[in-house]
Amino acid sequence: MKNLVWFRNDLRLHDNPALSQACAKADQVVGIYIVTFKQWEEHNDSPNKIAFWFRSLIELQKDLHKLNIPLCILKCDTYDDCPQKILEFASANEINNLYFNIEYPVNELKRDEQVQAVLEKMGTSCFSFHDQVIHVPGTLKTKAGTNFSVYSPFKRCWLAELDYALLEEHAIPTIKQPVSVNQQDEYDLHSYKQSNINQDLWPVGEESIQKMIVNFLDRKGSGYKTDRNFPGLTATSMMSPYINSGVVSSKWCLNQARARNYDALDEGDKGLVHWISEILWREFYRHIIYNFPRVSMGKAFQEHFEQVPWENNQDFIEAWKHGRTGIPIVDAGMRQMIETGWMHNRLRMIVAMFLSKNLMVDWHIGEAFFMQHLIDGDIASNNGGWQWSASTGTDAAPYFRIMNPETQSLRFDEEGKYIRTFVNELSDCPTKEIHNPNNRSDYNYPEAIVDLKASRQKAIDIFGQIKK
Ligand SMILES: Cc1cc2nc3c(=O)[nH]c(=O)nc-3n(C[C@H](O)[C@H](O)[C@H](O)COP(=O)(O)OP(=O)(O)OC[C@H]3O[C@@H](n4cnc5c(N)ncnc54)[C@H](O)[C@@H]3O)c2cc1C
Repeated sequence: MKNLVWFRNDLRLHDNPALSQACAKADQVVGIYIVTFKQWEEHNDSPNKIAFWFRSLIELQKDLHKLNIPLCILKCDTYDDCPQKILEFASANEINNLYFNIEYPVNELKRDEQVQAVLEKMGTSCFSFHDQVIHVPGTLKTKAGTNFSVYSPFKRCWLAELDYALLEEHAIPTIKQPVSVNQQDEYDLHSYKQSNINQDLWPVGEESIQKMIVNFLDRKGSGYKTDRNFPGLTATSMMSPYINSGVVSSKWCLNQARARNYDALDEGDKGLVHWISEILWREFYRHIIYNFPRVSMGKAFQEHFEQVPWENNQDFIEAWKHGRTGIPIVDAGMRQMIETGWMHNRLRMIVAMFLSKNLMVDWHIGEAFFMQHLIDGDIASNNGGWQWSASTGTDAAPYFRIMNPETQSLRFDEEGKYIRTFVNELSDCPTKEIHNPNNRSDYNYPEAIVDLKASRQKAIDIFGQIKK
């Protein structure tokens, strides 16, 4: 028996249900990964993230090689070409069954359906698994039998319905019988050079990333609840690129926190419990994207907010994108993303709210720009975060509660350490001036492009006129 594993956002050996089951059922196992540049471009997947995926794949290839599992790199333009590509590979290599872990956005689900139909017609069975969530999307319901659209009741139900057997991890498979692949790689992973950031900021390799997360939990887990909002502190795990590409599973992460919290998920150490609940936010957004597919098709979750008359001032958009708005905390956040491919969560909220409210720019523009730069860009969490900030989403910030960037700056970057790290022009600016966007001519730093108070009021007025 020879099984095929199709790797996507699950670039790991440990707790990988598709890999584990494929190995349990066959003596010989082969892996494939399909590079789809055109599709990725349509999805705004950033070159920073693609380079990171490829580096992670090179490590995965080495790890799989130790188990006698070859990983072949195939290439298609778009998802439409995947069924034929896999069919050809499966017949050339006498594959009995295909195994993969499920991805929830609309295009990915459609692709998998097509692959399954084509393969099963030719006698190859397909087996799919849920590795990105603990509860299968669609299985958690409100008392009225509807899907959750608010996080807190979702979380309560998630916990109440939890059978601890769901948290059992799949062990790394044992060594398989050697197998040769009847196909050359169609893409050289080492040849990709389009990332704009220093990729060394993001080490790769499953084992070393596990150590990094364990180290975070041991050293900073307990302080997470209080410190996580301060971008100058490096008090969050920075594991989002790894969990999103599947170098670690969310289940493994939850279990690591649980093991340090006397087996509890929702009581005990406040820091660890809060970290666990952030991972559940991630799962919540995966349920949202599955249960309300319109959100991954560009629609506002709260449909009446489709009518917001966005102004989309091009000068504002360019200033925001380049971190030249004259609001130091906003510019620091945007520059962090451009320089490193990642942005602190507090800053993601600040810059997203600033764009969609103070600048009255359509949140889709910000959502796409984030995806084009983030190393952890993830359609479910990014869409959820943007719609939360723009007040158009599930459980979103109400439209009249607009964060003032300057107040946020004073509160969460009091000494200006974070601003100084990313806004070089202000590196010598005294602390008492660094948050204030005015009178900056002597620092070669732009004047604020909007008045915070007036633009806030204008946004409230515009949003207030939208009828449900
Ligand atoms: C406008 C906006 C856009 C965002 N875009 C993305 C995105 O593209 N990809 C992405 O992974 N996250 C996104 N987030 C959520 C959050 O900002 C990041 O997950 C977090 O900053 C990652 O840093 P960390 O790994 O240090 O998180 P930690 O604070 O250590 O949290 C641990 C993990 O929990 C999950 N998590 C934490 N906060 C959230 C949240 N608010 N929503 C969903 N999951 C969360 C992440 O998987 C994270 O890695 C966005 C948030 C906003 C407001």
